Amino acid sequence: MADPPETHARQPVRKATITLADGRELMYFGAVPERPADYPDRRHLDPVHIQSQARLDQLLGEWVIMASHRQDRTFQPAIGQCPLCPSAAGSLTEIPAPDYEVAVFENRFSTLGARDQDHGSDGADLLVGRPARGRCEVVCFSPQHDASFADLTPGHAATVMAAWVDRSAELARQPGVEQVYCFENRGEEIGVTLSHPHGQIYAYPYITPRTGRMLDSCASYRSRTGRNLFDDVLAAEHADSRRIVLQGSHWTAFVPYAAHWPYEVHLYPRRRVPGLAALADAARAEFCELYLDLLRRFDRLFGSPAPYISAWHQAPVRRGGDEFALHLELFTIRRAPGKLKYLAGSESGMGAFANDVVPEAAAERLRQLG
Ligand SMILES: [Zn+2]
Repeated sequence: MADPPETHARQPVRKATITLADGRELMYFGAVPERPADYPDRRHLDPVHIQSQARLDQLLGEWVIMASHRQDRTFQPAIGQCPLCPSAAGSLTEIPAPDYEVAVFENRFSTLGARDQDHGSDGADLLVGRPARGRCEVVCFSPQHDASFADLTPGHAATVMAAWVDRSAELARQPGVEQVYCFENRGEEIGVTLSHPHGQIYAYPYITPRTGRMLDSCASYRSRTGRNLFDDVLAAEHADSRRIVLQGSHWTAFVPYAAHWPYEVHLYPRRRVPGLAALADAARAEFCELYLDLLRRFDRLFGSPAPYISAWHQAPVRRGGDEFALHLELFTIRRAPGKLKYLAGSESGMGAFANDVVPEAAAERLRQLG
């Protein structure tokens, strides 16, 4: 694999799109093959048929996706059969090229993306269901099977950032998409089915429950104070400063005052923007440096790589762009070496969290791990 040049973060990232054997799209970002068409998908794949349905939980006002076709998806294949490694002689994977920097493709085992006709609800007004449209994509961060995001160079991370920006903007333009969510689950402890470093992007046909609640909180704070809630929370964390883990010229990373998880860090740009596509170049470049630093601190917390979830929060496509603040939430479910925080009766049953690690102590610990 050719290393990206030093100035990579300031150069436009190249992108090349091909069509896989079953009609799905695949995009190479960064060091794309000179002629991607020279590497066609040589597999024989049945067409994808996504049958998922979104059903409305009337009591919570939340959509739940029923995706029974995903039961037969790949689960921890042996290394030689990793579908996210580049293809090689005798081993045809999801990525036809023999090498890549960052690759993004439509997930064959997608939760979203039903193309069925919408026949409306079942006739009873309370039983509301519809085909779960939208799209799920897989983002391969590196061709190296045993790498992790924390191993990437800042230039390579900038290519991932460019892919997130491109996909966020393009998916937001697709009909029926209401929100785009870029995220990574890392670690077997949180049910990751493939260990190859990768993330996912969901383009939802509705606004997710957490984003909806944040927008409601913003609206009620705005009507009470005339101010933006995200701006004031960030200012309050700056003023207190005990929970700040890292600060750059463009970003601040802090453990939130009311953290839900034992080690949880929120990373905010100082200048509020609604989504990734609105970030200035300097902010994108600095993000890569700070984020890699944070991930490496997480990996030093327990003596072995921490299982984590890393979640980009962006404004929905059609609502809240003037109030919402793009930010990343990173948390681990591990609370001590070998000990996981399980969602127990209070969290799973009632959504009422209890956290064993005081946020100020978590921030102090993460600062010391630099
Ligand atoms: Zn692999």
